Amino acid sequence: MTPMLEVADLRHTYGSGPTAHTAVQNLTFEVATGELACIVGPSGCGKSTLLRCIAGLIKPSEGTVSLHGDKIDRTPEDLAVVFQDYSRSLFPWLSVRGNVEFPLRSRGVSRAERRKRSAEALEWVGLSGADGKYPWQLSGGMQQRVSIARALACQPSLLLMDEPFASVDAQTRFELEDLLLRVRHEHSSTVLLVTHDIDESVYLGDRVLVLSKSPASIVADLPVDLPAQRDQITTRESKNFVALRGEVARLLHNQPAVAHEPITRPTPAQESAAAQRFLEAEREQARRRSDASTG
Ligand code: ADP
Repeated sequence: MTPMLEVADLRHTYGSGPTAHTAVQNLTFEVATGELACIVGPSGCGKSTLLRCIAGLIKPSEGTVSLHGDKIDRTPEDLAVVFQDYSRSLFPWLSVRGNVEFPLRSRGVSRAERRKRSAEALEWVGLSGADGKYPWQLSGGMQQRVSIARALACQPSLLLMDEPFASVDAQTRFELEDLLLRVRHEHSSTVLLVTHDIDESVYLGDRVLVLSKSPASIVADLPVDLPAQRDQITTRESKNFVALRGEVARLLHNQPAVAHEPITRPTPAQESAAAQRFLEAEREQARRRSDASTG
């Protein structure tokens, strides 16, 4: 069976020449239909770059990304992305319903179908009564629910989520995680979620892909051996959860340190010139203080 998503030998380098920066390299993995795969990696390792390549927002320097076996070279219609920064991804001048229906307009969906889909999606995320409100009238958690509803209303084959719960408080984060689990079970959604939060990756995932420090490559692909029905308290206390989060943490922290550019030591002449400048500045300050006290 063709996997839903195939990433093969992906590399992306920003810029060129001496300032070139390789953000991801040697990335190869697949996501099966109906799977929720989490990608966990340290901040700055290249997670967003990977998602942007998958979403067709940037063209990778090397390698391919395929959805249903078709190579992605621009954002596919049946792919939706939920970003971390809900406050910037929602339009403040559109109502909640207007925001959810917005991408459907550009896809040419009829008005009646748009109404139906936005009403359904808002119901799934528990916001049926808020469809006439504006984003600025909602809490952060509610705004992120609107972003999720907007993505679901597009009925995507693949839902990409880029640190979707990183900007909300811990309690809301738990609620949104459970909302995602419920919605993906009810709709058999295929989800690829990136996070820097180890516990979140284990709690949500069927699988956890662990990334190395920058440039990101995959250091482990771990199946999550936990019951499909998860609970914020009992699941997080279970032996399997604790063992797996420990394994992911070890993989992340035992990685070799990133090689930094060597610090160039100044020559003796540069050192003495710097010392001279420092002494002159000190003398000048002392002279000003003395002038101020006598004047
Ligand atoms: P993460 O999502 O894991 O925090 P990113 O994919 O945002 O990481 O960034 C990976 C690396 O690529 C970082 O070192 C970042 O500074 C660099 N980077 C990201 N976007 C650009 C860009 N547009 N131009 C140059 N470098 C970039």
